[in-house]
Amino acid sequence: MPKMIVDGKEIEFKQGQTIIEAASDNGIDIPHFCWHPKLSVSGNCRMCLVEVERMPKLVIACGTLANEGMVVHVDSDKAISARNAVMEFELINHPLDCPICDEAGECNLQDYAYKYSVGESRFVEEKVHKSKRVELGPYVMFDAERCISCSRCIRFSEEIAKAPQLTFVKRGDRVTITTYPGKQFDNPYSMNVVDICPVGALTNRDFRFKARVWDMSRTNSICNGCARGCNIEIWVRNNEVLRLVPRYNEDVNSYWMCDYGRLNTFKFTNADDRVDGPHIRVEGNLIRVGWDEAYAEAASRLKVFGKDEVAVIGSAYATVEDNFIAAKFAKSVLGTGHLDFVRHIDPTFGDDILRNEDITPNSKGAELAGVFPSKNGLDFNGIVKAIREGKIKALYILEDDIVNDNPELENILSKLDLLIVHATNFNKTSALADIVFPAASYIEKNGTFVNFQGRAQRLRPAVATLDIDRALEGMAMSRLDKFGTKFDRWAQGKHFDARASWKIITGLASAMGHKLKYNMAEDVILEMRNSIEAFKGLDYDELGELGMQIKSETSKTTVKI
Ligand code: SF4
Ligand code: SF4
Repeated sequence: MPKMIVDGKEIEFKQGQTIIEAASDNGIDIPHFCWHPKLSVSGNCRMCLVEVERMPKLVIACGTLANEGMVVHVDSDKAISARNAVMEFELINHPLDCPICDEAGECNLQDYAYKYSVGESRFVEEKVHKSKRVELGPYVMFDAERCISCSRCIRFSEEIAKAPQLTFVKRGDRVTITTYPGKQFDNPYSMNVVDICPVGALTNRDFRFKARVWDMSRTNSICNGCARGCNIEIWVRNNEVLRLVPRYNEDVNSYWMCDYGRLNTFKFTNADDRVDGPHIRVEGNLIRVGWDEAYAEAASRLKVFGKDEVAVIGSAYATVEDNFIAAKFAKSVLGTGHLDFVRHIDPTFGDDILRNEDITPNSKGAELAGVFPSKNGLDFNGIVKAIREGKIKALYILEDDIVNDNPELENILSKLDLLIVHATNFNKTSALADIVFPAASYIEKNGTFVNFQGRAQRLRPAVATLDIDRALEGMAMSRLDKFGTKFDRWAQGKHFDARASWKIITGLASAMGHKLKYNMAEDVILEMRNSIEAFKGLDYDELGELGMQIKSETSKTTVKI
C-alpha cells in the first residue's frame, strides 16, 4: 500500500483516497464542516486546509488526493492560522446563541471555536439577520442565522434520501437554504440532516428544548421498527427516552435511520397505557395483582388443559431470548407442539434505502430460536382454526397485538377458556385476556435481535424497570457492566413494574413445578449457543457493539449504503 506522512506519522492509504479520508482511516482527525464520509465532496467550508510540503499554497484535505511520499502538516503554524481565519469568518454573522441552542454540547462549530478561535471578533458592524424558526417540514426546524452553508443537508437529500428537496438561494452573506416554492422538506429520511448539520441550524422538532445533551445518558441499541435493525443510540433523561439517533454500522445502516424508526419506536415506553404490574380479570375487569398471585393464577388455570388444548404464539417483536424460553415452555412445560409466531409484512413500508417490508425486528430470530410448530403441531392458521372449532381452549401470546392486525380474531379469541398475554401496553389483544403480564420493552432489557440479513445484534436496557432496580440492588458493582450502564442514571423518574418475557415465563414455569434456571438474559443465550447451530459461539461480548453475522439459511449479502 502507498504511504504518506501526516504530522510526522507514517500512514498507509488506498489509491484514490483524499488526504482527509486517509487521515481519518488512520485515526487522525482533520477539522472539517462540509466533508462527510458518505457524501460527495463540496470543498466549500475551507476548514480542512492543510500544508503539504512542496506545494506552494495550503490545500483542502477533502479535495486533494493522497500521494505516495506526500508530507502533510495538519497542525503547522500556517495551517492553524488559516483555520483561525476560517473560524473568524464563520462567526462574523453567527448569532452566538449557544446557551439556547439545542446543538450546544455536540456542535462542531462550538468545539472548533474553543480550539481554533482567537476568542474575540474584530467585526463591529451589525450582523446579517436571517429567518429564525422556519418549519422546513413536519420534523425539521431551520434557523438560517446559524447555518454555515456547508451544503451537507442538500447533498444528503439528493444523494442518500433520493429526495432533492433543498437548495441554496441568494449569494454571499445572504445565502440560505430553502425548499422549492410551495414544497415541504418531507421524506422518509428527512431527520438525518439534523444529525449531520455541523451546527444548530437544523433541529429535531420532536426533541427541541426537551433537554441539554449533557444531562442525558446514551445507550447503544437496535431500532425495533423493522427487520433492518438499524443501530441506534437511546438518549434518556430521568429514566425517560427523549430521542433516538442513528449509530454508525457500515454493514447495516451506515450513518442513517428512517424518520419512522426515530419517532415511533420509543414513545410507547412512557405512554399512559403501559401495563404496570401483572393483571388478572375479576368480574370482567382487569385488576392489578402481585407477581406471585398472577403466577399462581396462571399456573392453576393452565394445568387443567390437555396438551392438545393449549397453544403458544411467540413474537417477532420479542427478543431471541424471550422466544427461546417461550418455545421451551411450550414444549417442555405445557407439552404442546402448537407453536408459531405472526409475521407482519407491509410492502408499502419497504424501500431500497433502509426500510424493510418486514415491520418487526426479529422474525428471523424468533424462527431460529425454535418458535415453529413441532411435527404434529399446528401453525398460526391451524391454531386459529382449532380455536374456532373449540379444540384449542387456552392460548399464550407473547408481545404481539394480533387482534389489532386481524380484527376478525376478536371474535375467535373470545371463544377461549383462557387467554394469557404478555404486553408492554394495553391493547386490543390484552383487552380479551384473562391474565396480562407486563412485558419490559426492547428499551428496558438485555437481549438479541436477528435482522433480515441474519445479523445478530444486541439490545441493552436504557431505561430501568422495577425489576432492574431490584436486580441492581442485589448485585455487586462489578457486575453492573453486564447492563452496559451505570446505576446512578436510573435513580430518577418513573419505573414501570415490568419484566423481560423470558423472565416472566421462568417465574410461571416455577409456579408450575418446572425449574428453568436462568438468572439473566445472557444465561439464555449461553444455552442457545450450545443447542442451536446458528447461535454457536455467540455471547454478548462476541456480539459487541456492531453485532455479528450468524449462520441463518436466508442470510443475505450485506448492503452498503
Ligand atoms: S443547514 Fe446545516 S447542514 Fe444545511 S447547509 Fe446549513 S449548516 Fe450545512
Ligand atoms: S429502517 Fe427500520 S430499523 Fe431502521 S430506523 Fe427505520 S424502522 Fe428502524
